[in-house]
Amino acid sequence: MTSLLIHGGRIIDPDSGTDATGDLLIRNGCIEAISTDSPLPRDADSSIDADGCLVTPGLVDPHVHLREPSNGQPHRETIAIGSRAALAGGFTTICSMPNTQPPPDTADRIKDLVSRGKMANAARVYPIACGTMNRAGEEATDVQKLIDAGAQGISDDGDGVACDAVMDTILQRVAAADTCFMQHCQDPTMTLGAAMNAGALAVRMGLGEWPPAAETSMIERDVLLNGKHGARYHAQHLSCSKSVDVIRKARAEGQTVTAEASPHHLLLTEEACEGYNTIAKVNPPLRTSQDIDAIKEGIAQGVITILATDQAPHPPQAKETDFASAAFGMVSIECALPLYKRALVDEGVIDWSRLIAMMTCEPANLVGLPEAGRLRMGGPADVTLIDPDLEWTIDSSTFLTTGRNCPFDGWSVSGRALASIIAGEVRWALPGARMEQTAIAGH
Ligand SMILES: [Zn+2]
Repeated sequence: MTSLLIHGGRIIDPDSGTDATGDLLIRNGCIEAISTDSPLPRDADSSIDADGCLVTPGLVDPHVHLREPSNGQPHRETIAIGSRAALAGGFTTICSMPNTQPPPDTADRIKDLVSRGKMANAARVYPIACGTMNRAGEEATDVQKLIDAGAQGISDDGDGVACDAVMDTILQRVAAADTCFMQHCQDPTMTLGAAMNAGALAVRMGLGEWPPAAETSMIERDVLLNGKHGARYHAQHLSCSKSVDVIRKARAEGQTVTAEASPHHLLLTEEACEGYNTIAKVNPPLRTSQDIDAIKEGIAQGVITILATDQAPHPPQAKETDFASAAFGMVSIECALPLYKRALVDEGVIDWSRLIAMMTCEPANLVGLPEAGRLRMGGPADVTLIDPDLEWTIDSSTFLTTGRNCPFDGWSVSGRALASIIAGEVRWALPGARMEQTAIAGH
């Protein structure tokens, strides 16, 4: 591979403020030229006609569950499969969460994940390491060692760190290591036996109630603790309006706090659980339309700056059981882009450029990846090609992930990634799309 010209697309690079039709030239895996005023010469080894498409930095998802290692359990997702599924959603960079068996709480385990990610040769995989040993919430890990070994951030995702003193130590170490902490905001003492949003519906269905305060109270505690450390603190998968208020206030005070929203918390309410639909069971739970409105308002105001799927594949048997026993979690990485578009762009909450920022440079900045999420001259050519108007029906049976637990199955949507390019190589192209023919034939 030597050179690839992507011509005539709408180039959106929020980091540099670019949003204009133009050409992008890749040579030897790096971005050599971007021109939005005059066409570049058509003498590249291969080319892609991007007319009508968006040409964006490779999308970044900072919150993905890859399930590997899984202690030898069969039917589980692997790094190879999950990182391939990410490409099919347009994501070229993903961060893997640490609730695996065993969890990555030592340097050796992080190094192992880094090498498995490289071997998979799909999306770039950056492991997030545990905040506490064995994710047990009792003893803080050696954050610096984990970062030195290749971890790109710290989290106990799947569980929140409940103990104040342990959390205080983690934030201190995270600040010293200049990395980020991603909190799964859930006070475990408030969610014992909880299965869905607290309220009349949970009472009628006879299911354990999960109060919004279980989330908000932990964020408030963390913001208080982090005041003296100034670590990059990130609240994962915000689900309720009061949490948005806490983040808004903390950011207004100048605290280094960010937050993310997930497709399901933008598009689904607790009513999706009706009929004991276990596919709608997720942690934190689906809430109300008022909560969705508050999350959207937070996005419009720049309070919530990051989008993350919380891709959580499960084998069918984990969901084919009663609601109280079913596993928490959903998959959406292969259809996240049109879902975000529907919730945010089509609804007029934000424009395309801001949406792409929330899927590229914003998450890349959080986890400290200065090369990712932007189209930088001379930098690695990670690029996603998007047809913003392509109409299609989500069919989870065609997903590359092993997870079929997608609540959006059967939805008619518009917008889709056509190709995911990493270091100038088309690693994935939508079967049958013009990118596949032009780009792959060009090599
Ligand atoms: Zn979580």
